[in-house]
Amino acid sequence: MTSSRSRNLSRLPLREELQGQEPYGAPQLSVKAMLNVNETTYDVPADVVDAIGKEVRAAAAHLNRYPDREFSVLRDKLAEYLNRDLASEAQPAELTAEHIWAANGSNEIMQHILQAFAGPGRSVLAFPPTYSMYPLYARGTYSEYIAGTRAADFTQTPEDVAAQIREHRPNVVILCSPNNPTGTALSLETVEAAYAAAEESETMVVVDEAYGEFRQSGTGSALALLPGREKLIVSRTMSKAFALAGGRLGYLAAAPEVTDAMRLVRLPYHLSAVTQATAVAALDHSATLMANVERIKEQRDRIVGSLEQMGLHPAPSDANFVFFGGLADEKAAWQHLLDDGILIRDVGIPGHLRVTAGTAEETSDFLASLQRFITSTTA
Ligand SMILES: *Cc1c(COP(=O)(O)O)cnc(C)c1O
Repeated sequence: MTSSRSRNLSRLPLREELQGQEPYGAPQLSVKAMLNVNETTYDVPADVVDAIGKEVRAAAAHLNRYPDREFSVLRDKLAEYLNRDLASEAQPAELTAEHIWAANGSNEIMQHILQAFAGPGRSVLAFPPTYSMYPLYARGTYSEYIAGTRAADFTQTPEDVAAQIREHRPNVVILCSPNNPTGTALSLETVEAAYAAAEESETMVVVDEAYGEFRQSGTGSALALLPGREKLIVSRTMSKAFALAGGRLGYLAAAPEVTDAMRLVRLPYHLSAVTQATAVAALDHSATLMANVERIKEQRDRIVGSLEQMGLHPAPSDANFVFFGGLADEKAAWQHLLDDGILIRDVGIPGHLRVTAGTAEETSDFLASLQRFITSTTA
């Protein structure tokens, strides 16, 4: 915002907690390699583009009518999709449309959750460094945000998470797994321990699995823990693995009574017919889209290996990005990469940066540019 605009804004009778605040704003620069917000850097495959075009065209004829308020077709397809994920881990796959809620990005999913279960006089606990949007969701829903803590290496143990939940007794606790920006997933024992502690204070437990599809084999999804846990919510998104950040479709799986709570707070017809059609078409082509997920995971593992060889310290990643430390001057490294047309993320942690895994070519460009930086600064 320009300073004259912010002066004008300060004349308005804004809510106290919004005064002097900055809006969310990761840079949207147009450079050769945009590796800063964890999008899929492959364009949407041509057959998926055609399918979306067809579905949206069919929906267009009926845009005179309000959309299906219950987005039933979409919820069925999301349940089927998650059941395939569960089956791949040899877990019982019993999700139905009743367990599914969707919204305009998991941003809106989180807003619905906090509108229903947090709010004025209530609190939300999360564990920074974590997704920078969590405090904004809390602020926007008039909820108190409690910043928990992590170990020095940014990991979390079952005992530590449970102890912090018992200490703060929040109304909602958000576990980000794999965590953004650090990339590491939580063990299911940690989620179970968090849930057991949360039960004592009737706390809703949200596991944000925005990057769930990128997890390492052997890392379980919290979806498997849903049966018998009615205060557990697993949040997912089509923004990352489905290459659909522009489509704005997030969703959750939880007990049917949780989705009923969401119906109390959503705006009527919150999911447009165009959004529903787009997501349905993408889900019909999940096999094509998941092939790119495998390619991205290869580049992710390649980045981790190469950074180690450079003497840097990448964190283990279950996501489509890598968080790494060991830089003497992360701001200089970030600028050097940008001068080479490569935009990555400075997440505000000294000595560290975060890079999205993209195509093989983008990875090569990133690694070569960073190697030049390391060589030039240690020469
Ligand atoms: C990218 C991301 C999301 C996705 O948000 P959308 O609103 O679905 O695009 C959610 N959670 C985390 C931790 C993320 O990094």
